[in-house]
Amino acid sequence: MTPNHPLLINGKFVETKERLNIINPSTGKVIAEASIASLKEVELAIDGAREAFDKGEWPKLSLSRRKDFISRIARGILDKAGELAKLETENSGKPIKETTFMDIPSAAKTFEYIAHNFEGFLKEEDLTISSEAKAKLVREPMGVVVLIIPWNYPLLIAAWKLASALAAGNTVILKPSSLTPLTALELGKIIQEAGLPKGAVNIINGNGASIGEALCSDKRVDMISFTGSNDSGRQILRYTSKNIKKSIMELGGKSASLIFSDVDIDIAVNSSLCSIFLNQGQMCTAMSRIFVQDKIYDKFINNFVAKTQGIKLGLADNYETQMGPLISDAQRKKVIAYIEKAKREGANLLCGGNIPPAAELKNGYFFAPTVLSEVNPHSHIFKEEVFGPVVIINKFSDAEQAEALANSSDFGLASCIWTKDIDFAERLSRKINAGVIWINTYGMFYDQLPYGGFKQSGFGKELGKEGFLEYTRLKNVIIDQAPDSKPLVNYWYGLSS
Ligand code: NAD
Repeated sequence: MTPNHPLLINGKFVETKERLNIINPSTGKVIAEASIASLKEVELAIDGAREAFDKGEWPKLSLSRRKDFISRIARGILDKAGELAKLETENSGKPIKETTFMDIPSAAKTFEYIAHNFEGFLKEEDLTISSEAKAKLVREPMGVVVLIIPWNYPLLIAAWKLASALAAGNTVILKPSSLTPLTALELGKIIQEAGLPKGAVNIINGNGASIGEALCSDKRVDMISFTGSNDSGRQILRYTSKNIKKSIMELGGKSASLIFSDVDIDIAVNSSLCSIFLNQGQMCTAMSRIFVQDKIYDKFINNFVAKTQGIKLGLADNYETQMGPLISDAQRKKVIAYIEKAKREGANLLCGGNIPPAAELKNGYFFAPTVLSEVNPHSHIFKEEVFGPVVIINKFSDAEQAEALANSSDFGLASCIWTKDIDFAERLSRKINAGVIWINTYGMFYDQLPYGGFKQSGFGKELGKEGFLEYTRLKNVIIDQAPDSKPLVNYWYGLSS
């Protein structure tokens, strides 16, 4: 019998009759069952979180007690790091090297960072406005916050949102993707072991289309923090408009990497492989459009294609594996459809574009890393997010053209600039319409640095002080201090007194 993973609602683990089969994308086999929330469990979770916020101890705890709990969650993740990495790999198809060295330790580090810094972020500010008035700026928790997580970084993105939301004093309902709920549900156990008060964290696994509206439109929910696709983001914004509430939206991307001719080609190629093929290209910040200056284009592309063909595909639980399977067959079909359309629209397929023939991979959702060149800027693949191991490599002649190409997208999540001329790169970074610019690197996320996109990539920040403050509301308290102890308003109707 496969193990069942229960929900966490109001301090109790809840098993539901309805279960979801959880699939290992490397093998296509069912590895577990997860309880799935119906509208009844959504109601219970909202009730639990609301009660815990309005009457419970979590928002009222001293900051040092809250810090203790957040630190305990970080330690709990580290204590179970090996187990969590294995689970994440089995559930998401992410190579074990990535989950072991990136996802799981980074999730723990985010909790640690927030534990050490949030008291400073919550510091009240005293302002002297004039001789008659002074003010205090006070940060308060939002209330009940719903955190909705995608499948590409299941534990890490949950940690980004949860650490800040909790430390700010909110109670939360965490909804992982129904494809990858296992590490979030395991995190529920860590949270219970850490001893958080009941209802402070509720974790409900469920299908977004069936429970999303009930969860996001409810008046008792004060804020939605969403990471996922633009289609789901649009739906959620429609739901939240029924009872106005704050939302942050971390959506898709079609990011551009600009490679100038003065780079060390080997470094630029190796790093560019990482910028698109890590996590099978299923990264919101994937550099799915690489633009190379014409002088080095041929050399770059020959080197890039040769190395792409050398990427080792394999079962995700093998430490030697460099590229695992896509998350699902549906995702693979979507990727294939994009490549077929791109070819019809004139793109040149340089390598990949096929399901790898190796016998050991035949039951998983593997797909060969794919390079396309001479892609028409008006074609679908140039403009839309594929979310798979597919890269476009086109050329540019000068900085002006590079900037125009980078900005020729409805998205504005991230961009890379590769050149030895750092002053030039910094100047160019100001002109690129994206929330994160990496100069001579890729994918460096720091807990100290706010992260989030522009344009159709959404709004709001994760991480850093600014990301933390998203989970607070700002109140100003004005104190009259007129010199004669009579406030200015006293004189409007009361001149004669
Ligand atoms: P998705 O939109 O299909 O699902 C994301 C989450 O939303 C899941 O938990 C899902 O169950 C839920 N959901 C779906 N429909 C919903 C609805 N109507 N109401 C409420 N919840 C709903 O996205 P995905 O396929 O899991 O993730 C891939 C997408 O996420 C890509 O577009 C990627 O770019 C984006 N992403 C963005 C960032 C970022 O930081 N900007 C990070 C990671 C992923």
